[in-house]
Formats: sequence, structure tokens, C-alpha cells
Amino acid sequence: MQAVNRKDKPYYVGAHVSAAGGVENAPLNAAAIGANAFAVFTKNQRQWVSKPLTSESISAFKANCEKHGFLPEQILPHDSYLINLGHPEQEPLQKSRDAFIDEMQRCEQLGLCYLNFHPGSHLKKIDESACLARIAESIDIATAESDSVIAVIETTAGQGTNLGYKFDEIAAILDHSKNPDRIGVCIDTCHIFAAGYDLRTAEACEASFGDFERLVGFDKLCGMHINDAKVKLGSRVDRHHSLGQGEIGWEAFRYIMQDDRFRGVPLCLETIDETIWAEEIQQLRQFAGEAIRA
Ligand SMILES: [Zn+2]
Ligand SMILES: [Zn+2]
Repeated sequence: MQAVNRKDKPYYVGAHVSAAGGVENAPLNAAAIGANAFAVFTKNQRQWVSKPLTSESISAFKANCEKHGFLPEQILPHDSYLINLGHPEQEPLQKSRDAFIDEMQRCEQLGLCYLNFHPGSHLKKIDESACLARIAESIDIATAESDSVIAVIETTAGQGTNLGYKFDEIAAILDHSKNPDRIGVCIDTCHIFAAGYDLRTAEACEASFGDFERLVGFDKLCGMHINDAKVKLGSRVDRHHSLGQGEIGWEAFRYIMQDDRFRGVPLCLETIDETIWAEEIQQLRQFAGEAIRA
């Protein structure tokens, strides 16, 4: 995994765009805001079952990606919010696993290489370590059912009983997995800040991303969600804000755009005001000193 040297790659910057009217519209929506990366749901994120992708939709998606220059490594599809791969009860666990396998296969049909998901919640019914082991088992089952899609665990805010808010929990999932090569990680800046990793200064970023390097490793980084936070450091509440308008502030985003470890993976906004996504993308590119795409 990630055999290529990402440091030679450009920054991939975009947003979680709408797939209304069909997943094939997502690359068009991303291109319209000057993005060279995007996140997308390949099915309705609030429903268990969606219709299979049609061959027309699949070929239109691929054609639109090609037309606008989106490679699979620039795209970070996200799974349904209903899925809990660490569910303490057998029946809902099985339902989650089946739905996750379906999500993996949809990504594969679309020619994509990643599937981003929230690790899972223990719901106060099993202990944290049992839940982490269960999540790893669920991921292993799903990766065995698809050829190549990498399961990309998102760092959470630790709201409620959600696990994966500490980097050591992510490391524990990787340790439990029998096939960790098929697992990657997505850092959400709002979530890690809410989880207690300070990002407000360059020194704080150095320390927080240093923890990530030590416990997980940047070779595992397959994407990021670039969000400011409405909530205070360590609040364990998941509330996104527009860049520079929240508790994190611009410095973190400047840091990310000037550090080669963040090149070559999709950096996707999930900020609250989509009318300024194009400006946010331009600002991030400015930090990187790269040319602004029209
Ligand atoms: Zn996120
Ligand atoms: Zn969030």
C-alpha cells in the first residue's frame, strides 16, 4: 500500500460533494468548485438498502472523472452513517457487515480505491477493546469480499460511544486485523481536535501529527477531512465549522498545506457553508503556493 512516493504528488483538495441525480454528477460538482479531489456517498447515506448502480451510471461516473482529471486516488467515497462495524449485537452487526460489503463492491464497480467509514460504537454493551477487535474482524471480512478497495478508518470526535477518537484505538484496530495492508486512515481535523489533539499553532500541529506518525504512521494516511470546529478542544462533540471561523483557526490548515506528508491524498472539506467551498479550496491552495485552477 502507498508504495509510491507521495511527496512528489500534488495536493489534492476538494469537498464532500452532492451525488443528487446520480453518483456520476459528483465529479461535475467537484470540478465546478475548482476541486481536484472529492468525497461522495455512492448511495443514500441514511438508508440501509439502495438500488444497485446501473451500468449507465457507472460508465458516466468514469467518463466524468476522466474528463475532469480525477484519478481514483483523488476520490474518497464515504459509507452510510447507519453502519456500525463494532455493533455489540449479532443481528445488527451482520446487517452492518452486509451493508459495508455492498459499499465496498459499489466502490469497486466505480473503479475507486478507497472507502471511508467511521469505525463503530460499543453502545455501552461491550468493552472498548472487544469492540475494536470486532471492528477489525468486520473490516477483514469486507476486504476479503472485494479485490482491492482499501478500508479507510476515519478518526472520530469520540461523541457518545464512538470509538476511534484516539490514535491508539486506530492502531489497535490495525493490530487486530489479519490484513492491515487493506486498511488506511482518514484524519478529520475537526474530529481530532474535538478528541483532544490540539491544532491551533504550528507547534501543536507538530505534536499532534507527531503522535499520529508514532502510533499509526503516515504511510497509512489515505485522506483527510478538512474542517474547522465549532466546539472546544477535547469536547468530544462533532460540530464542523467553516475554515478559520471555528476554534481551530487558519494556522492548522496552513500547516497541512505546507507539509509534504499531506500530499497525494484527497483532502476534502466537510465545512458547513458549501457556498464558500470554492474560496476555501483556493485559500488552501494559496497556502501550498500552488497555482489556482480556474
Ligand atoms: Zn469527517
Ligand atoms: Zn464530523
